[in-house]
Amino acid sequence: MTSSGDDFSGIGMTSARTRERLIRRLREQGICDAAVLERIRSVPRHIFVDEALASRAYEDTALPIGHNQTISQPFVVARMTEALLEDGRPDVVLEIGTGCGYQTAVLAPLVGKIYSIERITPLLARARQRIRQLGLNNVQFRHGDGWQGWPARAPFDGILVAAAPEDVPETLLEQLAPDGRLVLPVGPRGRQELVRIRRTADGFERERLGLVSFVPLVEGVK
Ligand code: SAH
Repeated sequence: MTSSGDDFSGIGMTSARTRERLIRRLREQGICDAAVLERIRSVPRHIFVDEALASRAYEDTALPIGHNQTISQPFVVARMTEALLEDGRPDVVLEIGTGCGYQTAVLAPLVGKIYSIERITPLLARARQRIRQLGLNNVQFRHGDGWQGWPARAPFDGILVAAAPEDVPETLLEQLAPDGRLVLPVGPRGRQELVRIRRTADGFERERLGLVSFVPLVEGVK
């Protein structure tokens, strides 16, 4: 097996079995996009968490990354990535809620370009460093408030939001290209649902993709 990140820590080398177990589990849970599964297998998730948690990096669970935030559960990252890529790979993607950068790393080689926004400066700085370390060079980061989207770079073929607003932000819908899709969790804490919204010729189509649990999409920057 090859994995570009294995040289970052010994855990990378010893994790081959746990990574395979994770991929099996995701398949059993219905993830079927081969490219997405391959990214989950090869992205070294252990470099996105504290060393003390590295041994748990290939469990299918969210883990703390400091600042009251979490690295998303691999299943959720896989599901959202798959939902974004279905029916044609988007070229230009906006990601809101970079966090540790794991979702960014999974998605980057599967799309043309990612614009990624995070409101917590230290998280953004470390994510930027890791993405560089992995040799992914089609990502541009920005410290800012995701509620505003990134008007200067709009429209986007895909928008992926990793934190939950109570209602879909109008601004993000406006920044979708024709046929573009927005994948995001919506709802109050404890009652969120993953939804996919497509921009069609006559408006927007909304699909429900199941219950999820995310941190809230907070207004304003830190
Ligand atoms: N994408 C991450 C998970 C991030 S958790 C992963 O791969 O695991 C959600 C992130 O959204 C947090 O880092 C939080 O700070 C950020 N966030 C919350 N509200 C935001 C906003 N309004 N603008 C930008 N980022 C926001």
